[in-house]
Amino acid sequence: MSIVVSALKEEQPHEKRVAIDPDVTKRLIKAGMKVLIEKGAGVASYYSDESYQKAGAEVVDRQTALSQANVVAVINLPSDATLDALKSGQVVLGLLSSLIKPEKMQQLADKKVSALSFELLPRTISRAQTMDVLSSQSSVAGYKAGLVASDAYSKYFPMMITAAGTVKPAKVLVLGTGVAGLQAIGTAKRLGAIVSGYDVRPASKGEVESLGATFLTSSVSNGAGSGGYARALTPEETAAQQKELAGFIADNDIVITTAQVPGHKPPLMVTQDSVDNAKPGAVFVDLAASELGGNIAGSKPDETVVTDNQVTIIGANNLASELSNSASQLYAKNVQAVINAMVDKDGNLAIDPKDDVFSGLTATTNGEIINARLREALKLDPLPTDEPAKDAADEKADQSAESKGAE
Ligand code: NAD
Repeated sequence: MSIVVSALKEEQPHEKRVAIDPDVTKRLIKAGMKVLIEKGAGVASYYSDESYQKAGAEVVDRQTALSQANVVAVINLPSDATLDALKSGQVVLGLLSSLIKPEKMQQLADKKVSALSFELLPRTISRAQTMDVLSSQSSVAGYKAGLVASDAYSKYFPMMITAAGTVKPAKVLVLGTGVAGLQAIGTAKRLGAIVSGYDVRPASKGEVESLGATFLTSSVSNGAGSGGYARALTPEETAAQQKELAGFIADNDIVITTAQVPGHKPPLMVTQDSVDNAKPGAVFVDLAASELGGNIAGSKPDETVVTDNQVTIIGANNLASELSNSASQLYAKNVQAVINAMVDKDGNLAIDPKDDVFSGLTATTNGEIINARLREALKLDPLPTDEPAKDAADEKADQSAESKGAE
């Protein structure tokens, strides 16, 4: 019997993405699977029900998509009602916020539903790169950040020499130059701005400069942690960083922030003083905005705030959703890579908890919580030592994913 894969219509109000697009639908069907799409699931990403039908999917109601699926693909953690409808043996796959809401994973474990949570993916394993939702969606969000900033800005980004006079180019500063930050730099450069980037990882200097931007040297001595991520700064380093950044921020028209630290709330880089001292009309875009606070004082997730001194602060925690078509296309490819890796040589679905990728990615299977950090969060004893131990880099990746759970 062929494997049935379903994609649901997302339930969160700001979410426009869909977990499977028509192209991946075609690919899954070609691989012998059956695809069910909940009616209207792709509409906000500009994928019509007809386009899925043309690709070979059946467009069905939610109840059918849920009850007949072997694998249910989603973007975000579904509602309690949806989780309640899942049954033993089914697999749910998505950005499940597993470390933020570990109790939901326990509920699924109790029902013997398997849950694969993209935030838990061990990103440094090269085989996992095609499954890396955090990278694909950060890349989309970073690109969009440059556009959102230019849209909210009241002046040109490029220098304009006209018969009516010359307009100076905008100055854009990107704080945190990882996956999202580099894309933001690329967009701002293409729009003609003068761009600089700042990061505590010395390795990012070459990447920033290769895009034609200026790298601002940090006084923090080597802020690199493990697995390519940043480490948490000491309170003294944070204070020194905020002081040195204040000058850079005051000199720029646009500040885009993307800084995350594995396992910690996002570092505050743009203080209230920096906001108060910004030029009127300055635009600040905070990709790290969260309920716990972001990189910019006063940023609020999913909200745009205009301060008394006319600074626009955009809480841009879910920008990937604003480029819903492309974001869904890439997300669907990540989903397909996971599903392919789950199919064994006999064509059956099989999650191998000892596999180096699945031991990280899997929150729960066969009624057991697999991921080590999740076990810790749920105060469960560690699994016996013959289970694969996760290395420090993977732990960092998990933690980083956690701090991005609201993305
Ligand atoms: P991220 O989202 O965790 O952080 C974004 C950026 O913020 C990072 O560049 C980080 O150094 C920076 N940052 C954190 N605290 C800061 C502070 N106080 N001041 C200034 N900058 C700060 O990271 P990400 O973009 O997901 O990935 C970062 C890097 O990790 C990538 O550039 C890449 O080299 C590596 N990575 C590797 C793999 C892989 O091996 N497959 C996968 C993903 C990421």
